[in-house]
Amino acid sequence: MIRVDLHTHTNHSHARDTVREMFEAGQAKGLIIQGFSEHSPRPLGYDYPKEYREHLAATFEEYIQEVTELKNEQAPRGITVLLGLEVDWLEDQQNYIRDMIARHNYDYLIAGIHFLGTWGFDASADDWAKLAFEEKCALYERYYRTMKVMAETRLFNIVAHPDLIKIFSVEDFRRWLDLPGSMELIREALVAVRDAGMAMEISIAGLRKPCREIYPGPRILRLARELGLSITFASDSHATDQVAWNFEELARYAAAEGWTESLVFSRDGVKAIPFTEEQL
Ligand SMILES: [Zn+2]
Ligand SMILES: [Zn+2]
Repeated sequence: MIRVDLHTHTNHSHARDTVREMFEAGQAKGLIIQGFSEHSPRPLGYDYPKEYREHLAATFEEYIQEVTELKNEQAPRGITVLLGLEVDWLEDQQNYIRDMIARHNYDYLIAGIHFLGTWGFDASADDWAKLAFEEKCALYERYYRTMKVMAETRLFNIVAHPDLIKIFSVEDFRRWLDLPGSMELIREALVAVRDAGMAMEISIAGLRKPCREIYPGPRILRLARELGLSITFASDSHATDQVAWNFEELARYAAAEGWTESLVFSRDGVKAIPFTEEQL
């Protein structure tokens, strides 16, 4: 059983439910550690078709307050609530990112690569349908080069959904993995993640998306294990019914490669928490 979920969103961005509703859903799933990792503010020019920027900007301080209150309230009960943030990694906005993350005292920071240049690549299947295979390959390559640069900044604790780039083209992504040099590029990115003291997230959210595959897929998962990476577990939930959703499968998936524990980052340091394949 996995009793930790470090990746949850709230109604302060584009998710459906409140901090407290998401927490109660986690309690019903038997979590003992729940991390909130709301999306970060993003500068103008990096836009999604359905944008939540203004709503997030208007309520961001409430997010911080609500999670902090919950954290203080639950600590005496032995339930750990963590204040995190899923930071949009924007390669040309490093000063913006440094200023933004310095504004609050977060327990941990997840780096999410959702943008290449100013294009949010995980929003529209139509964007991908127009691309030739070679163009997709160039994007896959760019994604892993971007991941390496991100890790080398040493600003973050966790890399989110480490093959999100496959979301709308998983068949082509698998073909790309078979091409010479692809796994080597991923290896370089994962080595940078490991050497920065970061963990790699294993996220069940991929099963809910068009790629229908856990992030990362099996080949990248195996490589991460060979390289000795640590892991965290993620639902990337945007509604209460997604909190710790299908974590039985996530536990089997990680255990099959040999992991027995996941990491939890907080202001107090890093802890390894064991998990098992058995359910309560
Ligand atoms: Zn994300
Ligand atoms: Zn997320």
